[in-house]
Amino acid sequence: MKHRYVEHVNCEREFCPICQGGLSVCAVCGLAEGALTDNCPGVRVPEHAERASYEGRLNFRDGAWREEPNALGWADARVNPHGPLRDQPK
Ligand SMILES: [Zn+2]
Ligand SMILES: [Zn+2]
Repeated sequence: MKHRYVEHVNCEREFCPICQGGLSVCAVCGLAEGALTDNCPGVRVPEHAERASYEGRLNFRDGAWREEPNALGWADARVNPHGPLRDQPK
């Protein structure tokens, strides 16, 4: 299924990251932009899974959770700044 994004009606916040900021937050799984998986798991995602998704290590696709060790790369690069994912000196 697809994420169903939160939309506020008559939002009264002074600054709302969703209305003014254009932030996408799924009403079903609770994931926000940056942590959004390819498909919506259909249930509230626990915090550790949200973090893993944000770091590109976890994704929900084709009806199942999938570990993606180097989906984005920067999660590993941050752990090991001298790792092969960084730009190498020429
Ligand atoms: Zn969702
Ligand atoms: Zn709002």
